[in-house]
Amino acid sequence: MISDRAYQACTRCIMDTTADRSIIFNNAGVCGHCLRYDSSFSTRVIRGEAGKAVLDALIQKIKATGKGRFYDCIIGVSGGVDSTYVAYLVKGLGLRPLAVHLDNGWNSELAVKNIERVLNKLGIDLYTYVIDWEEFKDLQIAFLKASTPDGEIPSDHAIFALLWREAAKRGIKYIVSGMNFTTESISVPDWAYGHSDWRYIKDVHSRFGRVRLRTYPHFSLLYLLYVNLISRIRTVSILNYLDYDKNDAMRILTQELGWQYYGGKHHESIYTRFYQGHVLPKKFGIDKRYGHLSDLINAGQLTREEALIEIKKPPYAEIQQTEDVEYISKKLGLRKSGFDEIMALPCKNFRSYKNSFSLVNLLKSIANRLRSRGLYPR
Ligand SMILES: [Zn+2]
Repeated sequence: MISDRAYQACTRCIMDTTADRSIIFNNAGVCGHCLRYDSSFSTRVIRGEAGKAVLDALIQKIKATGKGRFYDCIIGVSGGVDSTYVAYLVKGLGLRPLAVHLDNGWNSELAVKNIERVLNKLGIDLYTYVIDWEEFKDLQIAFLKASTPDGEIPSDHAIFALLWREAAKRGIKYIVSGMNFTTESISVPDWAYGHSDWRYIKDVHSRFGRVRLRTYPHFSLLYLLYVNLISRIRTVSILNYLDYDKNDAMRILTQELGWQYYGGKHHESIYTRFYQGHVLPKKFGIDKRYGHLSDLINAGQLTREEALIEIKKPPYAEIQQTEDVEYISKKLGLRKSGFDEIMALPCKNFRSYKNSFSLVNLLKSIANRLRSRGLYPR
């Protein structure tokens, strides 16, 4: 990608003008992402004794609301660190969770083993939804052909839809999520957009898809308002109330639950590993590790120097990438030349398609305003 902008890197994190082409800096050379981290931290994260007190009150509320029901909350599980640690925590806090997992056909064997082993040990019931492969494959190919960096959106959207739907269906009022501000704060709209935007997903599919989406789990913004305002189902990002340290969490999970590390953030899914480690960097010049590592710097869990060493390594081994190209093309029913053609298509973004970007942003800012007044969970 050619840019006439002079190179500049943040003095605190590792974000720079190549990682985010629209990055801004203050006079001290600190980037807009770090400044946003500082300003949003207090509305999203509450630590120490204060956090514990709020969390205790919240747990009591979840227990009271779920009284008389078989489960009092739902947790989404992927086999990854954050969601597995949430399973461990909620059990320890005395909640009665139902674990929900989306099987989109791309789970690594290790991820599946991790889920089974951990939930068994914790005595948590698991509901797995197996997505219709023909539909899902068609949607994934549609996103590859749409040539936007949002190829992971079909999975992300379906997971949200599934959690809301199961909660509504079973009369469960709380979804306890592993989403956390500490290690997942930096987001650049041009890196990934569309988690809640069914209008965008539908438009991409109507242009490039071939199979009718009959069962693909999805939701409109109207449904999102409905479950929030009428059904009053709440998503609670429980890790925002604790001193969440990813390394500590991994150590606990390994030692106490026999969980095994799979290498790399979000590498529990083969498609995610491939998409974030191969398609995004090679086609779009996007390397999400810049965001993940910068979050860890801001959280005080990594130094800038350590992050700079880490980012110089390839996202994952080249030989594994070559194998993945072959495996994934075959599984999607694409010829190798078909995949090469997709990689060569001119890059686009969600703005090239119908979308509800402004509305999604408006709803997000309303939720954040409610959070800052203590009217909505963090
Ligand atoms: Zn920064």
